[in-house]
Amino acid sequence: MAFEGLADRLQSTIQKIKGKGKVTEQDVKEMTREVRLALLEADVNFKVVKDFIKRIKERAIDQEVMESLTPGQQVIKVVKEELTTLMGGEQSKIAVADRSPTVIMMVGLQGAGKTTTTGKLANLLRKKFNRSPLLVAADVYRPAAINQLQTLGKQLDMPVFSLGTEANPVDIANQAIEQAKNNHNDYVIIDTAGRLHVDNDLMAELQQIKADVKPDEIFLVVDAMTGQDAVNVAESFNEQLDITGVVLTKLDGDTRGGAALSIKAVTDKPIKFAGMGEKLDELEAFHPERMASRILGMGDVLSLIEKAQDNVDEKKAKELEEKMRSASFTFDDFLDQMAQVRSMGPMEDLLGMLPGANKMKGLKNVQFDEKQISHVEAIIQSMTKKERQDPNLMNASRKKRIAKGSGRSVSEVNRLLKQFEEMKKMMKQMTNMQKGKKGKKGKG
Ligand code: GDP
Repeated sequence: MAFEGLADRLQSTIQKIKGKGKVTEQDVKEMTREVRLALLEADVNFKVVKDFIKRIKERAIDQEVMESLTPGQQVIKVVKEELTTLMGGEQSKIAVADRSPTVIMMVGLQGAGKTTTTGKLANLLRKKFNRSPLLVAADVYRPAAINQLQTLGKQLDMPVFSLGTEANPVDIANQAIEQAKNNHNDYVIIDTAGRLHVDNDLMAELQQIKADVKPDEIFLVVDAMTGQDAVNVAESFNEQLDITGVVLTKLDGDTRGGAALSIKAVTDKPIKFAGMGEKLDELEAFHPERMASRILGMGDVLSLIEKAQDNVDEKKAKELEEKMRSASFTFDDFLDQMAQVRSMGPMEDLLGMLPGANKMKGLKNVQFDEKQISHVEAIIQSMTKKERQDPNLMNASRKKRIAKGSGRSVSEVNRLLKQFEEMKKMMKQMTNMQKGKKGKKGKG
């Protein structure tokens, strides 16, 4: 998970100060020393760290905080607020131009994820905002980049504008905008050329496109895994192009956090989106406050709910709930439920969004082995329809057949059957408890 080391260190640091009935200046100093080290280790720019620590100290060593009833909590609040500010404060929105189409220029180094993000952004604009984007292949130096965008366009069933490798990128952009007007595409997303390093020719070309097309947004795509380098890249692009926002990619990897925590401070430009995987639906709006909350182990329930809303079929969820209540939950329902949860992403990421999840000792070391989930699925899929409805049918020969069919052992089949029974028992208990509560309310 991204930010893991930083999260662990910050959480153990704030844990020490959390419950204190009295906080001394010395306590705050010790805490900020640890926070400072944690940030530096996470590859956060040292100047950014220095300013950050200074602000925390100023705000925490303050009469009001120190003499409050819950000074420990107040200090943590300060840390969270400053961490949020560091990442940009408010979540920032994507521009909508007065005239149509709104033009977005995507810039960045090769390999940062620019082309992929162009596709992801178009997908998000259509899915969440009902927009109809046109993708523009303006990287004329790499035929592969044009092909890649065309492939993405096909996958998304979206138009891609290209004039091949011979045309001038400024002409390409202008003609694309004309086509968008004619075809009622309300967003134009231009995938520009990237290089391995920041280079003058490239910058001159991008400046030319900018001057001519006057884009409403210039998004710099940077790879979060590159830490401080990402910050340097962002600084140069911002100086030359005055970007409007940053998309941080590969936040699904085990990035330490340096880029996410430094870019806003160094460029004063917000991180607008985060790439959370290679797939086209793995782009999320970047919420500084939620991210700060996640890093400090306070959970991110809002994102979890949104994820569930995006991925879980509400009608199915209701049916499932009904079945749980009436204890008629079968293995088929179990399969369904697993598929829905899986569509929300890796289990570890979901757990990271629960407040205090990493403090639950049991959970901390549980490895959510996706393979094991597939094994469970294979076992259920090897059952007959009748067996899935009624596990009581299961006898030794059926178990043997299922084990063989799924390539698992009989003891694994037994374990699953046992877990399933336990789960049903638990559902029954929960339903009874709820009934009990309702009954009491009714009487009172
Ligand atoms: P470009 O050269 O900047 O256009 O980069 P590409 O779009 O070709 O992406 C480079 C590689 O990064 C590809 O293998 C992408 O699948 C991968 N990539 C892009 N965004 C993400 C992300 O958010 N997470 C992960 N894990 N991989 C990504």
